[in-house]
Amino acid sequence: MRCLYIRKDSMKDTYALVIHGGAGTITRKSMSSEKEAAYRTALNTALTAGEQLLKKGAKAIDAAEAAVRVMEDSDLFNAGKGAVFTHDGTHEMDASVMDGNGRRAGAVAGITSVKNPVCLARAVMEQSEHVFLIGKGAEEYARTLDLEHAAPEYFSTEFRKAQLMRIRDTGRTQLDHTEEDHKKYGTVGAVALDTSGNLAAATSTGGITNKRFGRVGDTAVIGSGTYAENGVCAVSSTGWGEYYLRAVAAYDIAALMKYGGRSLDEACAEVLNGHIAEMGGDGGFIAVDSLGCIAMPFNTEGMYRGYAKSTGEREIAVYRK
Ligand code: ASP
Repeated sequence: MRCLYIRKDSMKDTYALVIHGGAGTITRKSMSSEKEAAYRTALNTALTAGEQLLKKGAKAIDAAEAAVRVMEDSDLFNAGKGAVFTHDGTHEMDASVMDGNGRRAGAVAGITSVKNPVCLARAVMEQSEHVFLIGKGAEEYARTLDLEHAAPEYFSTEFRKAQLMRIRDTGRTQLDHTEEDHKKYGTVGAVALDTSGNLAAATSTGGITNKRFGRVGDTAVIGSGTYAENGVCAVSSTGWGEYYLRAVAAYDIAALMKYGGRSLDEACAEVLNGHIAEMGGDGGFIAVDSLGCIAMPFNTEGMYRGYAKSTGEREIAVYRK
């Protein structure tokens, strides 16, 4: 079995950051060069925001939150500004963070007025005695904090409205990031390893278009959409949330490493192409382990993604290689 807990002195400057902006039917055919350039620029900005912090010795949780925040502020992704619409024409956003140092976590669901739901999730982790707040209560808690709020229109875009109009009366829900109606995943996430060896993960989403009845997916659920444990790994998921919830996907990766001795790559592949695919789900993960190895697997046509490491390696990618 591999020992994941040994951190050598030679690793003291090692950091790694991985981000995603959702997986789905993202093909060259369906993408204009302007649109692709806009996505690449947004991913690059998010990566830089997080990497700059890691370079300065900041904590993994700071870097993960900063990167997610940039993507929440971009209307290209289904999180914060640009979140998908519910059946009722509103936005209900979910987010969660986990600090692998002490396995502390914070999560929120059904958020309607907080500009950056990831910051509220972090406040729940650090400033409340709870892990998971939802709906009206979470909004009420947010008002006690020094967080930026936004009117409903801030989150809305014409593109998302058109997505809702196409399926509102069909009774179906829909994920993001494709022209194909049934396969759209647009959540954002970041995972980081800092120079002190801490791991952290953050994930944020508007959920799925046309959702009703207070539906919450995996993104808000610690262990499914987000998980981090020092000495093991940090994971952020994107995909059809119901499958990731049933698979307890992010924790399943950590458990395979911790109890099963799998490498990060092996564990991600087993969960994505085994456990989730067997149930009929698809999507992707980003993950980093305590040695700075990274994984960005997905079994859809594409996934907006990128990584940066202390070795100078850096990449932004969209399609399958
Ligand atoms: N996992 C998210 C959800 O089910 C959707 C996504 O990844 O885009 O809410």
